[in-house]
Amino acid sequence: MAVKLEPPAGGHSIRTQGDRLAVPDDPIIPLIHGDGIGPDVTGAATRVLVAAVQKAYGGRRSLHFWGVAAGEASQAKYGELLPQATIDAIREHIVALKGPLTTPVGGGFRSLNVTLRQTLDLYANVRPIYYIPGVPSPMKHPEKMDMTIFREATEDVYAGIEWPQGSESAKKLIKFLRDEFNVRVREDSGIGVKPMSEFGTKRLVRKAIRYAIEHGRRSVTLVHKGNIMKYTEGAFRDWGYEVARDEFGDHTITEQEVAENYMGTPPKGKVVIKDRIADNMLQQLVTRTEEYDVLALPNLNGDYISDAAAAQVGGLGVAQGANIGDFVALFEPVHGSAPKYAGQDKVNPTAEILAGQMLLDYIGWKEAAAHVLQGVNRTIAAKIVTYDLARQMEGAKEVRCSQFADAVIERL
Ligand code: NAP
Repeated sequence: MAVKLEPPAGGHSIRTQGDRLAVPDDPIIPLIHGDGIGPDVTGAATRVLVAAVQKAYGGRRSLHFWGVAAGEASQAKYGELLPQATIDAIREHIVALKGPLTTPVGGGFRSLNVTLRQTLDLYANVRPIYYIPGVPSPMKHPEKMDMTIFREATEDVYAGIEWPQGSESAKKLIKFLRDEFNVRVREDSGIGVKPMSEFGTKRLVRKAIRYAIEHGRRSVTLVHKGNIMKYTEGAFRDWGYEVARDEFGDHTITEQEVAENYMGTPPKGKVVIKDRIADNMLQQLVTRTEEYDVLALPNLNGDYISDAAAAQVGGLGVAQGANIGDFVALFEPVHGSAPKYAGQDKVNPTAEILAGQMLLDYIGWKEAAAHVLQGVNRTIAAKIVTYDLARQMEGAKEVRCSQFADAVIERL
């Protein structure tokens, strides 16, 4: 029998209105608690978010979290890891928060995270990466990092179009390439396909540029390996420039135009569109950090570059992200379910709290979002931290996951 989930008694759905969200004062937010440390960090985060909304708006606005089934708890209760009812709840209510989900190792099991992204067509993986003063970092000037990364999440070599060495499909393809295109591929090769479309690229870059304009950012950098892979990565760059020119011509200017017509200083209010080759970008992340602002990347390079950037400002425990489609958005920490710490009330909930902060920003509740950020900043500045940061900081006061949330709430 199909799983049925009872929505909460109070609250209303977020809706869409034209190209905007229509957010009621009491939105229902589906919540996937997640596996392993998921319940600890989502418990901490939801308490902080509720307190921040209360502080910002008194009783005028409120969040109605709705625990929906996914992962091991769902398997135990309903015999399904990801019931259709959960996917429907997220699609209908548009904005959701999630904890990490375990992907069991072993054949034939598709990651629930990937399933959620594909089923809901959440094509943009968005990660704001900035420094929280006091967080241990390997850099001399971690505060120079303030980027938001938009990574395409449905195409590229991660699309899952691949065949193992020796399989009938791989053999057929190798023969086809030889017979039809005179292209030689070694017989003992596994084969993967790298599709990158104009549609997929443009909707991702469009989101990045719109975000840059709405958030008053200075530039959007298209990152690619177009020097080597001309018709995929190179096309990503070209399509990116096309979106900027055709759809945001009044708000954007290319780096080349700035150099040629404005002596290197962009006119006020314009977002500069530039591009960098991915290997160069990896160096510039470190050497010229402050020159980059919003990045738009294809899937594979986006994966590497977003983690490299996050490492510069303190890594996993403080890295938040979102998977966003045309409207539907699922906010989550970047880290996994760290099963060895499950139920110990030990780990750092900052990434989950900041995922919630992104959610508040996404629904336009900027004041509450600002309170959350302030609470986290003040708590870490006071050196009240969980074990992961405490072991790298001098004079830190180590607290449990829930105590960290209490400390943030006191400092909102
Ligand atoms: P992980 O769960 O992120 O944990 C790796 C290590 O990172 C932990 O052992 C811990 O390091 C540290 N860590 C992670 N989260 C932390 C937090 N909140 N506070 C402090 N330290 C934290 O990675 P994994 O062990 O590779 O993956 C475990 C499971 O999670 C896998 O099934 C994987 O597929 C899944 N996963 C899910 C998602 C998702 O839901 N989006 C993302 C990634 C992975 P120390 O041991 O040094 O303390």
